[in-house]
Amino acid sequence: MSDISKIYGELVFNDHTMREKLPSDVYKTLSQTIKQGKPINIDIANVVAHAMKEWAIEKGATHFTHWFQPLSGITSEKHDSFLDPQPDGTAITKFSGKELIQGEPDASSFPNGGLRATFEARGYTAWDPTSYAFIKDEVLCIPTAFCSYTGAALDKKTPLLRSMGALEEQAKRVLALFGDAPKRVITNVGAEQEYFLISEKDYTARQDLVLTGRTLFGHRPVKGQELEEHYFGAIRPTVNEFMKELDDELWKLGISAHTKHNEVAPAQHELAPIFAQSNRAIDENLLTMEKMRLLASHHGLVCLQHEKPFEGVNGSGKHNNWSISADNRNLLDPGESPMDNLRFLVLLTGVIQAVDEYQELLRMSVASAGNDHRLGANEAPPAIVSIFLGDELGRVVEALIEHNDDYKSRQKEAMDLGVAVLPNFPKDNTDRNRTSPFAFTGNKFEFRMPGSEANLSDSNTVLNTAMAKSLKEFADTMEGVPAEDFHDAAYEYIRQTLADHQRIIFNGDGYGEEWEAEAARRGLANNRTTPDALRCCADQKTFDLFEEFGVLSKEEMLSRYEVKLDKYNKLLNIESNVMIRQSRRMYMPDINNYCGELAGEIYRVETIAGPDAVKNQKALLKQLTDGLNVAYDATNRLEEEHEIAKAIEDNQEQASYYAYHVIPVMEELRAAIDGLECICDHDYWPVPTYNDILFYG
Ligand code: ADP
Ligand code: MG
Repeated sequence: MSDISKIYGELVFNDHTMREKLPSDVYKTLSQTIKQGKPINIDIANVVAHAMKEWAIEKGATHFTHWFQPLSGITSEKHDSFLDPQPDGTAITKFSGKELIQGEPDASSFPNGGLRATFEARGYTAWDPTSYAFIKDEVLCIPTAFCSYTGAALDKKTPLLRSMGALEEQAKRVLALFGDAPKRVITNVGAEQEYFLISEKDYTARQDLVLTGRTLFGHRPVKGQELEEHYFGAIRPTVNEFMKELDDELWKLGISAHTKHNEVAPAQHELAPIFAQSNRAIDENLLTMEKMRLLASHHGLVCLQHEKPFEGVNGSGKHNNWSISADNRNLLDPGESPMDNLRFLVLLTGVIQAVDEYQELLRMSVASAGNDHRLGANEAPPAIVSIFLGDELGRVVEALIEHNDDYKSRQKEAMDLGVAVLPNFPKDNTDRNRTSPFAFTGNKFEFRMPGSEANLSDSNTVLNTAMAKSLKEFADTMEGVPAEDFHDAAYEYIRQTLADHQRIIFNGDGYGEEWEAEAARRGLANNRTTPDALRCCADQKTFDLFEEFGVLSKEEMLSRYEVKLDKYNKLLNIESNVMIRQSRRMYMPDINNYCGELAGEIYRVETIAGPDAVKNQKALLKQLTDGLNVAYDATNRLEEEHEIAKAIEDNQEQASYYAYHVIPVMEELRAAIDGLECICDHDYWPVPTYNDILFYG
């Protein structure tokens, strides 16, 4: 076991290291930049770069890279060495302030959704000093934002940072009305990461997994998660070894990996870090995902981060715990008596308004081909966005809307566990609801729709900007109100706003069918598929929101829309191809071989033992050949539908065609083959089955 306090952050150029390595005036200027978001000049950058380089070389680094998040959502890096050859044949090391602040990768090879057509191919990366530099595999990584020649955002981080700035500005206006002037208002994220671990051997034997990240065929295992023995169960030794190494590596990178446990599905696990400022938390989550993939191979394992690697078995999500804090005070903490905590009520109302008003954007922010298999599948929240407040806050909101001013928060009930040695603790005022997409959990909101593969920047950009809009509206309305009237006017504002947005609050079972009907009555959006969910990217309402707060221009928004559609279509193109190929070249020939063998057996046995002896074998053979015929037909139809989809030029239309015409045939083909899996001789089956993959030793 490693000594956490010794290794923690040893590969990070964090505040502690900066203080140690930088001249004190430079350190002061830099930490002001970090704490107050001030710009940095080149002289300071030169000093910082030099110190960073010396520190990195001491730790074994040879290269540096600008580490960024293009629109594909995954991280990108290009390594440059510190090497600077001298005329006399020797070499020194060099890393300048300019190299620290700015990079110039060629933007043309990254998805840009058409932005490149209008702008130059060159792209720029710009240092984000609020996320610490770190060393990974002997490379000094500098977290950066990525933009085009004209400053248009080509990445996930830039709009996130802009949205955090927008929220900060509006929150400060609101707090000023309460006589509060914090230095900084930031948003925080705690990302719970779910994933599967399977053996490398099984993984490589499953081309569908290798090529698409999920199994396109496979009958549900004989034993699933019904015994509920996996969740929080004892962790298998190989997995434990993996988790230990992962913890160590993450701690060295200053990532506060905190909780690890087995998840609901067999072979599924979760890691939760301690929350951090949003941009840092998202950088850390991406690094965590990368380390998971890499370290799994040290243990003969493969880490699957797809949202739904196995049909019929729970998929993986990434819960986005979100809060707002002012100089380290959590503004979403209701305190003892939320009813009397006006500032909290203003923020709560703001969140409710933001989520209701921009529910479609939130749904859009988590839309992906993979996540479509998860949302609404009785394991994850439905595709309908709603808010769970819990009993206590639910009653507070009702009392406000109904002008029930005498309402007093119930005292927290002491919970007696009935065991003398266990202490009594106050029962949390929010009960745990697992089916809500957006749940208040004590002093933060938990957005549960994002899939395990998601880069959380999109969701947080939407959330922060929508919240900035709510806060701006409050500040605009209240700033002219005389101080003595503020209290009453604010309550009136809250009442009215809550009444207008009450429909988004739902404390019941989000998995139930009744909720879909009820949500439709309330007029809530229910965009079941990615193509449906993405349409709102091109709404005037969306442009207005993001332009008002300088988060995304119309062009930037449209480019993101294009990239998302493109990704969906490309993935479905690959999935269709793999299915057709595997069905024709693997499953059907192997099942045919088994039919041939069975037919031969039947013939031989019948010759000797007579027709009665082979009655059942004949029935089995018929079942197999019937199934094969269905599979042949479905494969042909899949090919036809896929050809039609491919010929559609408009990206949105193409995506819709995949969702509504191609996917249903993919499902038919899968059902036919999966059905045959249960009756075909195991020795003839060409791939490891779910039983083999999920229940390894
Ligand atoms: P659960 O599985 O019950 O939702 P976990 O403990 O697994 O709870 O995860 C909770 C996550 O929420 C952790 O990452 C934690 O750091 C994060 N979190 C806690 N408080 C806050 C907060 N104020 N803001 C943002 N995230 C928070
Ligand atoms: Mg959670």
